[in-house]
Amino acid sequence: MQNEIYLDANASTPVLPVAAASALDAMRALFGNPSSTHCTGLRAKNMLRAVRARAVRLLGAGEGRMLFVSGATEAIQTAVLSALCAIRDRQQQGARTGSLLLYGATEHKAVPESLAHWNRILGLNLDIRALPVDGDGQHDLNVLRALAPDAALICTMAANNETGVVSDLNGIEAVLLHTADKALWLVDCVQALGKLPLNLATTRIDYAAFSGHKLYAPKGVGMLYVRANAPFTALMAGGGQESGQRSGTENMAGIAALGAVLEALEDGRSFRSHAELLAFRDRLADSLRAALPGLVFNSAFAKALPTTLNFSVPGFASKELLDLFDAAGIRVSSGSACSAAKAAPSFVLEAMGLPAWQAASAIRMSFGPAADESFIHLACERIASCGHALRASGLVRSDLRSQTTDGAVQFACDGASSWLLLDAESRSCVVIDPQPELTRRLDGAIRHLDYRVNAILSRSTDSAHVVTRQALARQLEDRIDSDIATNPDTGWPMRCVTVTLADGRRVEALPLGQQVLARLAQPEACMYLFGRPESQRLGADAVRFGFFNSKVSLALLHQLTEVINPGTVVCATDDCDAQLATTLQAEKFSAPDRSDLDMHLCPTALDAFLREHIDTLLVDVREPFERLAGPEVLLAGRVPIHVPLSRLVNQLPAWTRGARPPLVFICRSGNRSGKAASCLRRLGYAQSWSLTGGLALAGTNGLNPAQRAVQPLAVAQNRE
Ligand code: PLP
Repeated sequence: MQNEIYLDANASTPVLPVAAASALDAMRALFGNPSSTHCTGLRAKNMLRAVRARAVRLLGAGEGRMLFVSGATEAIQTAVLSALCAIRDRQQQGARTGSLLLYGATEHKAVPESLAHWNRILGLNLDIRALPVDGDGQHDLNVLRALAPDAALICTMAANNETGVVSDLNGIEAVLLHTADKALWLVDCVQALGKLPLNLATTRIDYAAFSGHKLYAPKGVGMLYVRANAPFTALMAGGGQESGQRSGTENMAGIAALGAVLEALEDGRSFRSHAELLAFRDRLADSLRAALPGLVFNSAFAKALPTTLNFSVPGFASKELLDLFDAAGIRVSSGSACSAAKAAPSFVLEAMGLPAWQAASAIRMSFGPAADESFIHLACERIASCGHALRASGLVRSDLRSQTTDGAVQFACDGASSWLLLDAESRSCVVIDPQPELTRRLDGAIRHLDYRVNAILSRSTDSAHVVTRQALARQLEDRIDSDIATNPDTGWPMRCVTVTLADGRRVEALPLGQQVLARLAQPEACMYLFGRPESQRLGADAVRFGFFNSKVSLALLHQLTEVINPGTVVCATDDCDAQLATTLQAEKFSAPDRSDLDMHLCPTALDAFLREHIDTLLVDVREPFERLAGPEVLLAGRVPIHVPLSRLVNQLPAWTRGARPPLVFICRSGNRSGKAASCLRRLGYAQSWSLTGGLALAGTNGLNPAQRAVQPLAVAQNRE
């Protein structure tokens, strides 16, 4: 697989070849300053005039102004400033203005942030209020009807960037015509350009914002439409360009490129029809449904742009799906902003009232209207390969056999994790703390391993966890011995064995083949020790792992001092700090100044590093499904060993006891490799590094076979 499938058009698009050619021409031949009065300047000015005329014609701007700006954010700023200055002037003249600045709850942040910014700067103190949307993401017109009479400015986007939901602009206009004759109306048309028909001057819209880079023009160019006679205040003063309405020498290359895109839009040859785009969406949707069982779409297709698909898959954090797609060379974006361990849910999906898991695990897949048949075909093939990879890795009822079959596997989702303890000899396992989001994956993994389930254990205090545990137990009924009675709250079997720990304590233990899971029930947390006893004695040396059903703390670890070794690996199901694992030694004795600062290895320095440290182990910590979805990784001529982050704990004892060669961890973006390197450093393994920027940057440095983008422009190019 050599090419990348770029399905993130709502974030930005590649530049249309004719647009790039126009930009180049503007820089080479039409390089004059359009304000100059000589012939070179006049030629540049003529180009500017022609592009503006085309934009006015295409968008039906009529007598309104069409200003060239740096992008939609500037267009929105200018519109908001213009509206608020006009409101202030009216107030100063004693005229009645509304007191509300209303904006749709799903607007791009550029809108509410601009409102807050200029409201503060101008000292207006108007009430900034979010207009709710319904479950389909469309503005609640009843609330609008109630609030509009007191609105001074109303901002409603034409189509949403995350979900593609198209606003009912006609419905909004009808409400405004009846109830808000004085209110100004700003419409962010960024995602609508080229996808929805616009005839601005026939509407009541006062301001409309556009961005070039969302429709095949370069970044740094956009447009602002201002209705004839709508108030206007320049954001920038200076040389008086754009008839004094936007000073600063124009971005001629960007404007030329935008002009070429508008021309392509007008002649209609480079862009697919609405019906074709709908058919493309259906094919992508079918492929997604087949590849990702349980997938739900987060917006109603009938009310959304055909070019945007937003979906969530139960049991998968958006970050994991992003990793999977990225490994398959499919570039999508997560509908939510991810921080280190916890993904912030999408405010757009939250505003639509979607369940928390959907809002927290959404993926947006978007393509531009120039996409062609072969691009969609390849995209569907790749999506299918993601499905195969998931199945082959056991995440959707498939094969875990090829990976760890003994030891501990972490299933993580948004900072919480569940652990699966496996015993290869007896082909049995124990689940610790199943999280609601992860039950489907746990079920799939256990079934594919074809293991028996000796117990499913959960926190005793948290009712949500008990419910999840019971649900998983029902799901896995055929794998659990029905005659073993368990505690209904914790899942701990009523009948079990006892073992003696190193401090002489006798505790209950659950057998797992020749291994046991011993339980130390403390009031603060439940702790488990997993190991292989001898003559019913689980000595400190025999403990492979310790587990807490909570966050690890030094106080809790202290309680284990006598029963585990200082270097025994301890894990927790509450791992919001993404520590992965720790040891008594690390928590108690390691230098407080241990630093992660120098653990980052720049891709360009990798070759030299490997020459200097020839015994270095390159460790790919991506999950099995990512490896299966993508091509073999080759870094500096070497194939890394594979230790998925979810199985890293099994490797820790060997690494920390052994010869300690330098370890360079690698993942997709440098995030998980950073966690692995940081974990090892915490455990005293100073020779561990993370490859900065991961495979994403290593590829661009020629270390990985470069993946060239398949742009959905091939047909467009041929036809022009
Ligand atoms: N509005 C919407 C709906 C957007 O999607 C974006 C970009 O993500 C913007 C505004 C900001 O556009 P620009 O990058 O041109 O400032």
